Amino acid sequence: MSATNYDVAVIGAGVVGCAIARQLSRYQLKLALIDAAEDVAMGASRANSAIVHAGYDCPPGSVEARLNVKGNAMYDAWCADLDVPIQRIGSLVIGFDEQDEKVLEELYDRGIKNGVPGMELISGDRAREIEPSLSGEVTKALYAATGAISCPYQMTIACAENAKENGCEWLLGHPVTEMKVVDGVVEITMGEEKITAKHVVNAAGVFADEVSAMLGDSSFTVSPRKGEYMLLDRTATSVKTVIFQTPSKLGKGVLVAPTVDGNMFAGPTAVNQTDKLDTSVSQEGIDQLSALSRKSVPTINLRSVITSFAGVRAQPSTGDFIIQISEVCPQLIQAAGICSPGLTSAPAIAEEVDSLLRKAGAELVEKEDYNPIRKAIPEFRHLSNEERTQLIEKDSRYGRIICRCETITEGEIVEAIRRGARSLDGVKRRTRAGMGRCQGGFCGPRVMEILSRELGIPMTELTKFGGNSRLLTGVLKED
Ligand SMILES: Cc1cc2nc3c(=O)[nH]c(=O)nc-3n(C[C@H](O)[C@H](O)[C@H](O)COP(=O)(O)OP(=O)(O)OC[C@H]3O[C@@H](n4cnc5c(N)ncnc54)[C@H](O)[C@@H]3O)c2cc1C
Repeated sequence: MSATNYDVAVIGAGVVGCAIARQLSRYQLKLALIDAAEDVAMGASRANSAIVHAGYDCPPGSVEARLNVKGNAMYDAWCADLDVPIQRIGSLVIGFDEQDEKVLEELYDRGIKNGVPGMELISGDRAREIEPSLSGEVTKALYAATGAISCPYQMTIACAENAKENGCEWLLGHPVTEMKVVDGVVEITMGEEKITAKHVVNAAGVFADEVSAMLGDSSFTVSPRKGEYMLLDRTATSVKTVIFQTPSKLGKGVLVAPTVDGNMFAGPTAVNQTDKLDTSVSQEGIDQLSALSRKSVPTINLRSVITSFAGVRAQPSTGDFIIQISEVCPQLIQAAGICSPGLTSAPAIAEEVDSLLRKAGAELVEKEDYNPIRKAIPEFRHLSNEERTQLIEKDSRYGRIICRCETITEGEIVEAIRRGARSLDGVKRRTRAGMGRCQGGFCGPRVMEILSRELGIPMTELTKFGGNSRLLTGVLKED
């Protein structure tokens, strides 16, 4: 059987790979988006701080500084086109003593060098006017008006859907295991399957070093650094801005922030580890977050924690994003070592890869029918009564509430499955079913019934997030 031939194959369906796929889907290319996981947004893009960073944190002159500031400025347009939430609520880095104040001044200077607009060094009292829940101990703060919150997995899913609508093929559940250049094109092996591509984009997150090495480029390594979080219920003390403590060598500092869905969360920790897939949460991490979040916001109600989770940062050995044509293999474009602020930078990284592909000789001819617009699944909970009635008249499944905590309907769940959800978490990320206070305790079995019915597979084959994460082990009693 002959292999399918693509012009460009993007390896990795996180926010970076999906943004690149969306960017490239405007051209007349045969384009593949490949991921080992059975869904998009299963790596770092699933679990991070969701902050659209202003850009004062990155070292001046670095690739990440440039793409952070550019990406931040592009976010509103991308979110508008893709129907993804963004809230420009501003961010504060807070200081408690002279040493912190020096760090704030350094961050401000870096921000000026990086071209960050709308920054101000302000007093503790002014900071408390902006954020009344802030500790009385805060003496000074760096305010950045362009700091924002978005939703990392919604952005990823939206980019992937938009790319697909514009002709990009999704090859999910396809781990790339081997690559070699044959007659000038790359032969990509994914288990039993093979495809070829004239150009390969490496957006494989924490595994980008291993993917690069498959084509002989071992010029960098990527190390995993875990970040743990606590997510609080909507009833917890609400904060209006993103509140960072001063950064450490390992990260941007622990933050307390609202989510675009009205919850609040605290995190991340910064733990270097060897396992690239370890997203476990430790008691030590939770204790650390509890103490640090109370330091920023003393009234935070930690009894309102509804879940904890962790994500793994991809720390590059070069200390900067690696976005370049490989010096070893000209068919390979690296979008590697994308640690924080990768979510913010993703739209700018996508444009950078576009330019690199041109440089590498790809013929990028615009499609006449490219459509940059993608609509989100209707959110019943946010509709007016009139809109709800109209929706139910069109499809009665929108009249059946499945997730009571978040008011998610059967119609939304069916639409999520139609768009690519194959697991409980896939539905959860696309609709919020299971994200509320009971964390799926009520709706989980009902979502499974719908998944089983819509996918035509038995309940025993359903998974929480693909792979071996089976939800049921077998049948105890036949009807
Ligand atoms: C704790 C934490 C907090 C963060 N906070 C922020 C923030 O607030 N703001 C911000 O801008 N950024 C933040 N980031 C950074 C941001 O999350 C990442 O930069 C971004 O998600 C990276 O996206 P990616 O697509 O490169 O990687 P990923 O999302 O990890 O995707 C890589 C994909 O490649 C796939 N893959 C790997 N190997 C193979 C293979 N051999 N074959 C096929 N597929 C493969 C994986 O399955 C995965 O889906 C944070 C990160 C972490 C971990």
